[in-house]
Amino acid sequence: MGKLFFYILIALLIYWIIKNRHSKKDSDISDLDSIEDTVSCVHCGVYLPKSEAINHQDKYFCCQEHCDQFLSSSS
Ligand SMILES: [Zn+2]
Repeated sequence: MGKLFFYILIALLIYWIIKNRHSKKDSDISDLDSIEDTVSCVHCGVYLPKSEAINHQDKYFCCQEHCDQFLSSSS
C-alpha cells in the first residue's frame, strides 16, 4: 500500500513538471511575440503592440489623436 502511494506521488510529480514546463514554454512564446510586435509611438514614444498601433505612412502611433498631432506639426 505504501509502495502504491509512492508511485502515485512520483506520477503526480512527473505530471506537475511536464505541466509547468509546458506552461512556461507557452509564456516564452507569447513574450517573444509581444517583443517582435512592439512598436514605438512617433509622437510620444510609448511602446505598444503593433496590432494596436495606428499605422500611417510606415509610422506608428499609440492613438489617432497623436497621429493627427504629428501630421499637423510636421506639415
Ligand atoms: Zn502617442
